[in-house]
Amino acid sequence: MRRADTAEEAAFRAEVRSWLEANAPAWAGQAGPAVLDHSVEAERAQWKRAQEWQRTKYDGGWAAITWPREHGGRGGTPVQALIFAEEQARFGIPGSFIDAFLGMIGPALIRFGTDEQKARYLPPMLRGDELWCQLFSEPEAGSDLAAVRTRGRVEGDELVIDGQKVWTTSAQYADKGFIVCRTNPDVPKHAGITFALIDMHQPGIEVRPLVTVRGDRHFNEVFLSNVRTELSNVVNGIDRGWPVTTFVLMNEGAFIGTNDQGRTSAEDLVAEAAASGRLEDAVVRQRLGVACVRDRVLGLLRDRLKDALLDGRAPDVDGSVLKILSAEWGHDKAATAVWLQGASGLLAGGDAPQGGLWQDQLLSRGSTSVGGGTLEVHRNGLGERALGLPREPRFDRDVPFKALKISS
Ligand SMILES: Cc1cc2nc3c(=O)[nH]c(=O)nc-3n(C[C@H](O)[C@H](O)[C@H](O)COP(=O)(O)OP(=O)(O)OC[C@H]3O[C@@H](n4cnc5c(N)ncnc54)[C@H](O)[C@@H]3O)c2cc1C
Repeated sequence: MRRADTAEEAAFRAEVRSWLEANAPAWAGQAGPAVLDHSVEAERAQWKRAQEWQRTKYDGGWAAITWPREHGGRGGTPVQALIFAEEQARFGIPGSFIDAFLGMIGPALIRFGTDEQKARYLPPMLRGDELWCQLFSEPEAGSDLAAVRTRGRVEGDELVIDGQKVWTTSAQYADKGFIVCRTNPDVPKHAGITFALIDMHQPGIEVRPLVTVRGDRHFNEVFLSNVRTELSNVVNGIDRGWPVTTFVLMNEGAFIGTNDQGRTSAEDLVAEAAASGRLEDAVVRQRLGVACVRDRVLGLLRDRLKDALLDGRAPDVDGSVLKILSAEWGHDKAATAVWLQGASGLLAGGDAPQGGLWQDQLLSRGSTSVGGGTLEVHRNGLGERALGLPREPRFDRDVPFKALKISS
C-alpha cells in the first residue's frame, strides 16, 4: 500500500488536480483505441496532440517540474513530478515520447551542456516545438553501445559524421537528434566517443522507417553521410562523450522503471474469460489467478519504488526487476487472453475481439523486452548489483578500439 501524502504533498496534488480540471485536453480519457491505429496519419495526429499538450503544460508552468527555473522548469522536487504524473494518468492523459526525450537529453544538457547549448535547445524542447530522437544503437552496437562505429571527424569548426544508426524511435518526426560517434579509434572504446547534437533536417540524413510486426513505424534506420554539426554542438568535448551517454542511459532506465507500462489489467483478462463463457473452467481460473496475483505484486513493487522516491530514500526495489517482470508477465497476460478468444484470437486488427488490443500487446513482446536494455542485460545487472555476483569478464578495457574485432 502506498503511504498517504503529507500535508504539503496533498496541497500540491490538489493544485495539480485543479489545474488539470481546467486545462485537460478534450481527448483526455479517450486515448486508448487510438493507440491501436498504427497508420501514419494516426501517428502524426498523436504527435500533434502530444505537442499541443506539451505546449499547454509549458504555458501553465508544468512542463518540467524538476528542472531549474532558469531553464523553464518549475524548480520542484521528484516527488512533485511523480504526483503530477499520477494525476495526469488519472485524467486519462497518456505519456508520450516527448516525456521520454525530455527525461533523457534535457537533464544531460542541464548537467553537461554549455550555456549556449542550454539557451538554444532547452526552451523549444520544453515547449514541444522541437522533437528529438536518440541516435545511439547501431547494427553492431546495442547492448554493447561503446562499440559504435559511426565515425566523426573534426573539419574546421564542424564535426562531420558518417555511419548508420538503427532502432531510432521517431526519427521520421524528429527535428533534432543526439548522437554518439567514434572520433578516436586509437584509444580504448569508451574513451574515443563524442556526443553531439545534430539537425535532422539536413542533406545527408536518410531516415528509413522499419515496419514492425504490429504494423507501426515506431523506429527507423538512419543513414548518415557527410552530416555536419558545429563544434559548439558537441556536448562535453571531443572524445569525452561516454559520461554524457551513460548519464542519458541512466535517465532512460529511471524513466522506464517508474513508468507504469501495460495497457491492460488482470481485470480485463477476467472480463475476457467471462466473454468466452469459460469462467468456471478450472484451468482458466488458475491462469486468471496467476495474472491477478502478478498484477498485484507488480503494483506493490511500483508503490515501493515510488514510496522510496517520496521519502528521499534509495529504492529497495531494483528498476530492472520491474522491467523484467512487467515485460514477461505482460506478455503472459496477452497470451492468455488470445488463448481465451479461441479461433477469433487468430484474427488481427479491427476483426479481432476488442479491436485487436490483446493481439497488439502480444506482438509487442519484442519491444517491451528489448527497448531500454534487453532482459538478459538487465538480469546481468541484477546479478551484479543485487546478488553480488562477479562482474562479466571484460577483455577490451585497455585495448585501442581499432585493435578490436568489432571495429571493422
Ligand atoms: C521499442 C524500442 C525502441 C528503441 N528506441 C531506440 C532509440 O530511440 N534509439 C536507440 O539508439 N536505440 C533504440 N532502441 C534499441 C535498443 O537500445 C537496442 O535494441 C538494445 O540496446 C539491444 O541492442 P541490440 O538490439 O543491438 O541487441 P544485441 O545487443 O545485439 O543483443 C542480441 C541478444 O544478445 C543478448 N546479449 C547481448 N549482450 C549480452 C550480455 N552481455 N549477456 C547476455 N546476453 C547478452 C541480448 O539480450 C539479446 O538477446 C530501441 C529498441 C526498442 C525495442
